[in-house]
Amino acid sequence: MPSPRPNVFAIDPHNLFDSRPTFSHVAVSAPGSRVVMTAGQVGADVNGKVPGNVEEQIRLAFANLTRCLESVGAHVTDIVKLVYYIVDYDHTKRNHAKPLLDFLGGHRPATTLVPVPKLARPEFLFEVEAYVSLPQLPSQDVDVVVIGAGLSGLKAAYEVQQAGYSCAVVEARDRVGGKTWSSDRTDKGKFVDVGAAWINDTNQSEVFRLVQELGLETVVQNTTGNKLSEANGVESMLFLRNKAEEVCQSLDIRDPLRNGSHLDNMSFEDWVRSVTGPSESALASASIWTRAMLGMEPREVSALFFLNYCKSGGGLLQMRSDQKNGGQYLRLAKGTQKIAIGLANLLRPDTITLSSPVRVVEQAASAIQVHSTRRTYTCKRVIVSVPTPLYKEITFHPALPADKLELSRLNRHGYTNKVMVRYSSPWWRGYGLCGMLQSFAGPVTVTRDSSVDELGQFSLTCFCVGDWGRQLSKLSQAERFAAVVEHVTKTLGSAGSVPQPIGIEEHEWQWDQWSQGCPCPAAPPRVMTRLEPALRASHGKIHFVGTETAYEWKGYMDGALRSGARGGREVIDALGHGKL
Ligand SMILES: Cc1cc2nc3c(=O)[nH]c(=O)nc-3n(C[C@H](O)[C@H](O)[C@H](O)COP(=O)(O)OP(=O)(O)OC[C@H]3O[C@@H](n4cnc5c(N)ncnc54)[C@H](O)[C@@H]3O)c2cc1C
Repeated sequence: MPSPRPNVFAIDPHNLFDSRPTFSHVAVSAPGSRVVMTAGQVGADVNGKVPGNVEEQIRLAFANLTRCLESVGAHVTDIVKLVYYIVDYDHTKRNHAKPLLDFLGGHRPATTLVPVPKLARPEFLFEVEAYVSLPQLPSQDVDVVVIGAGLSGLKAAYEVQQAGYSCAVVEARDRVGGKTWSSDRTDKGKFVDVGAAWINDTNQSEVFRLVQELGLETVVQNTTGNKLSEANGVESMLFLRNKAEEVCQSLDIRDPLRNGSHLDNMSFEDWVRSVTGPSESALASASIWTRAMLGMEPREVSALFFLNYCKSGGGLLQMRSDQKNGGQYLRLAKGTQKIAIGLANLLRPDTITLSSPVRVVEQAASAIQVHSTRRTYTCKRVIVSVPTPLYKEITFHPALPADKLELSRLNRHGYTNKVMVRYSSPWWRGYGLCGMLQSFAGPVTVTRDSSVDELGQFSLTCFCVGDWGRQLSKLSQAERFAAVVEHVTKTLGSAGSVPQPIGIEEHEWQWDQWSQGCPCPAAPPRVMTRLEPALRASHGKIHFVGTETAYEWKGYMDGALRSGARGGREVIDALGHGKL
């Protein structure tokens, strides 16, 4: 998997002053690059809000510029030239210097600083634009192109290659794994999963088989000790849980509309109220489920979607369980991204091109052309593995059918952010707790012990999800982390003292342009009844996979692999028989 190399180099002409470390007098791009230019980026957030503090504005402008680079798969090291405009420039203060150096990280493009009296709006104090040189790779002719190197795309590519066809995988990010992402800020192999974490070794047979094939070590979820749950009506919760289980078990995951279409006329909240009456405690339990499983409130999701989602994982009880057969029984000692990395390594060398967002797919009778920002491919079949809400990022010629487009517009992600709090020891176990907390008061909905004792990695996963998560997201990261630690201290640590965390991290998938939310897109009421058949339907020679298209363990890693296998088979059948 060759990752793109920097293609801009600096020249320091003899007899000009030393411009290090900030810029170079001359910057040259490698031959065969494509020029990308950005508009001037200012320090305004997505809602147009502008911080009053100039340094914050400058950092925000660079963060916005980073998003522009990511949208074409470019890196800071691809910038040839930067121009920045500063209002009321004061050379004795140079507020921009530190954020600029942090942004460039040692890269030295040619730069020009332009002092200006004002910018487009009176509150703007800083603006930066970039000229980028994106290296281009020779075009490729293959049987199949897979868009996306998450688990579903990698699995599809594996199947296609196993059948003897040539296949390229084109990935927008600079890594494989999609929503599996294991981070090791300690550099000591103490990974935490900011994306997917849990599997099991029984009914999640696809993912477990692969984990075994790859020889990855698993850890059983710690359930020794008490679970904490703030007071809520237990009886109404049990009644609702049993009723939800009964209804979801009655659904047919391969044809949920057959006897469940009436459930699509209402939200899950409507359904809960129809079953339990005005019981707020029952709704509070239902909220924990939809938040923890989809990052959504019960009002946002169709009752049919939620109950069918549960059924796809064997039922609400099985999905919520941390015990054997449950959705949260095992973790991977070194993180789940190792599954994607292992699968990528099973592909033929040079199959995957990273940092190459696909932006256009042109389908003609003779062939399909897939245009990524780094390369154009000509192929016979395409497998799209990106989540439905991201179809809008790719222009399809001819356009996707109306029902598929509508589905991609209406299906939406919830808000799920796992804030990973590391400690030097699993102190909660000393208080007789297993680390599991379900909160009815917030701001964290659920916590779980995510330690790997053998590696000395001790952590709590704090699920900031649904409306409470969205509220936390409006805070600065420091404020959010403080609120999470306070929640943990007040709840799990109420019996005694709690040590300070030794590290905290998160990834807000909602703002990541190659996920735009997580864990799985879900349908609001009245979408499945109209559009469910469009979910897995191919468009000419373009096929669609991704965890949300799975029948079993929809939304989970196991489902992603199953969907990839299905897409691979579809393409192999369409191309004829394997040609090994
Ligand atoms: C916080 C969180 C917690 C989770 N917890 C669990 C759990 O405990 N257990 C579990 O089983 N599952 C869990 N999941 C869900 C699991 O991660 C997903 O079901 C699975 O990884 C989805 O795989 P996928 O291939 O369908 O999609 P993705 O992983 O989203 O892969 C799609 C790929 O396409 C790429 N892409 C997007 N657009 C383009 C483009 N235009 N051009 C090229 N490439 C593009 C993306 O970068 C990505 O790599 C969790 C997810 C998250 C984020």
